[in-house]
Parts: sequence; C-alpha cells; structure tokens
Amino acid sequence: MAKTYFIHTFGCQSNKSDSERIAGDYEARGYTEAESWRTCDELVVNTCAVRQRAEDRARGFMHNVVVHFNETGKKRPKIILTGCMTHHGNEKLYEMMPAVDEILPINEVGFNTAAVRKDVKHAWVPISTGCNSFCTFCIVPYSRGREKSRDLDSILAEVERLVAGGTEEITLLGMNVNSWGLEKLGIGFRKLMHEKPSYNREDLPDNQSQYLQPKKTPPFVQLLRAISAFDQIKMIRFMTSNPWDFHDELVDEISTNKKIDRYVHLPVQSGSNDVLYRMNRGYTRETYLKLVEKLHKGDPEIVLGTDIIVGFPGETDEEFQETVELAKAVRWQVGFVAMYSPRPGTASWRIYPDDIPHKVKKERWEILDELINKRNLSTRPIVV
Ligand code: SF4
Repeated sequence: MAKTYFIHTFGCQSNKSDSERIAGDYEARGYTEAESWRTCDELVVNTCAVRQRAEDRARGFMHNVVVHFNETGKKRPKIILTGCMTHHGNEKLYEMMPAVDEILPINEVGFNTAAVRKDVKHAWVPISTGCNSFCTFCIVPYSRGREKSRDLDSILAEVERLVAGGTEEITLLGMNVNSWGLEKLGIGFRKLMHEKPSYNREDLPDNQSQYLQPKKTPPFVQLLRAISAFDQIKMIRFMTSNPWDFHDELVDEISTNKKIDRYVHLPVQSGSNDVLYRMNRGYTRETYLKLVEKLHKGDPEIVLGTDIIVGFPGETDEEFQETVELAKAVRWQVGFVAMYSPRPGTASWRIYPDDIPHKVKKERWEILDELINKRNLSTRPIVV
C-alpha cells in the first residue's frame, strides 16, 4: 500500500503555495494524501513566524498531535517541520518541539516538481523566493533567505501546463514581485545587505530600492506581458508589490493591460515618516502618495489595499494620527492591520524596546480597522 502524507499549513499565501509544491514532491515519490493528520505516515507542519501568536499556534498544534497519539496508543507519523519557524535553527526547534523528527528549511522547497492544486480555475504561481529588504520588524529575510527570482522559462512552462489543464486566473507570488528578475540583469544591489546584527538604526543600509532601475522595460513588466499573451488567461493578480521598485512602466502596464486585476496590494505599514524610517521601509508618506496618485491617474478603476502595523516601538499618538490621516487620504479598500509583535532575530527586536502597551496597540488597531474595513471610505468597487 502506498505511503501517505498530510500537510498542515499555517500563515500566508506563500506558505500555502509552498505546501502545494511539497505535496507535488510527495506525489512524485508515490505517496498519496491522507484524509487527516491522524491517519498519515508523514506529517508536514508548515509554520508561520510573522507574529508570536502564529508560532504559538504551531506549537499548540504539535502539542495536540502528541497528546492524540499518546492517548490512542497509535504509532505517531514521522513529523517534518518547515516554514518560517525554521529561522530559529535546528537546535532550538528540537528543544522547543521534541516530537519533530526532521526539519526542512523552507528555501529548499524548489520548483522542480509540479505543485498539487485543488483549484483548477485559479492557480498561485511563485515567481521568487526570499527577500532582501530587511524591514526592521520582519523575519522573512532570515527565515526564507535572500531574494531569488525563478527562471522565466520555468514560470512560463508552468503557466502553459496550467492553461492546458483549464486554468484561467493566475496570481503571481513573491515577497517583492516587482523586483522579479532584476538580480539576473547583473545590475546588482544598490547597497550591501546587512548580514551582521546591527544594534543602531543608523548602521542599517537603506535596503529598499535595492536594485538600480534598468534602463529598459523592467523584467516584471515583461513577465506580465508574456503571461498576458496566453489567450486562455483571463486574469492576472500579483502580491506583494511594494512601493519601492514600482517602476513607472509597471504603473502604465497595470493601467492599460486589462487582464491585470484592478486591485493592487500596496503595503504602507505606517503613515509617519519617522516610523517608516525606524522600520527601514525606504519610502516616505509623500512618495507613497505620489505612487497612489499615479496609479489612480493611470486608471481611476484601480483599487488599493494595504498592510499596516500599529504600536511599532516608539509610535507616538501623533505618529499614529498620521497613519489615520493617510487612511482618509488614500481610501484603501482593505487594510490588514496588525499589532506589532517583536520577532527574535530581527533588527527591531534588537534595537527598539517593545514599549507600546497592548491596550494602546489594541485601541489603535480598532480605530484603523473601523476606518478602513468597516466604514470603508473608498467609493470604488471591491474586486479583491
Ligand atoms: S519587504 Fe519587508 S516586510 Fe516584506 S518580506 Fe521583505 S523584509 Fe518582510
């Protein structure tokens, strides 16, 4: 009888997409998917580390697995841990979760095997892995490693297979999709990435706009055009496109290429320039607003969504108010608002004390959630 696997996934769409590839790898080796983690031979736990609560959930799940098999006396499956929690390193992880048998670094999940997808009409297609941006609060550059663009041929071959199978909608995935392919042009980084721990904000390089802009059409725009050329593809989405590396030609392409969704996710994180500096985001509220203006000018039907962190270290009432004012000005259709949670190993964890009380974070969260998601200032249609 064929051996079975089960994948339990926490976190974002990138994790879900990675799980589809891990499933593909299992199926290529002759495994079949079990109905539940209670009945599989191998259990993969794909973890998220974006906030402490996400890590707690993975540990809670692992606890339930151990209790279940202890109580039933059944043989426990082999447990493989992957995802963003792998940044803790093997030693710490085995200590935190002794039931884990193997650790699979997430950047080893490649593109060599076809993903197993449940949805036929729509497919998530990863175009890059990792991130070079080193926003001070974020664990991704440590957990997923440096940004690496997937080859154009490999992406197009996958799209071709998907189209042949009936797929009409594609979402391109990456931590910073708009810098896709730039490292392959050999134009290199604008500044060196910081690999060594920094204890002062001033020591951190400006990591955004990390590549010099190409003189010719940016690779990501070329990719959008190449995918649009498939007649069967009716809709292309992408996430996440960040305010840096957002070339004017990308604005033009979104405006004129109607196969591209009118929803653009554009994380801002804060409306205060001082907070943005502490976050090492590499843009200002003014440059963000300018980009929003360009997008709306390109096509008034374009709608925007965003990510915001409230209660970042040192965020004053005035700084928070600047984010509120920005929300009123931009009128995002949707805002994923998060309360700051220090992630061990990140620059903000090293540099800044987590000094905003939970009560204040919660109040700020409620104000923005109400303003953006409940009151919904936008007059544009939601097309998320
Ligand atoms: S761009 Fe910033 S927030 Fe996004 S994954 Fe990279 S470091 Fe994290």
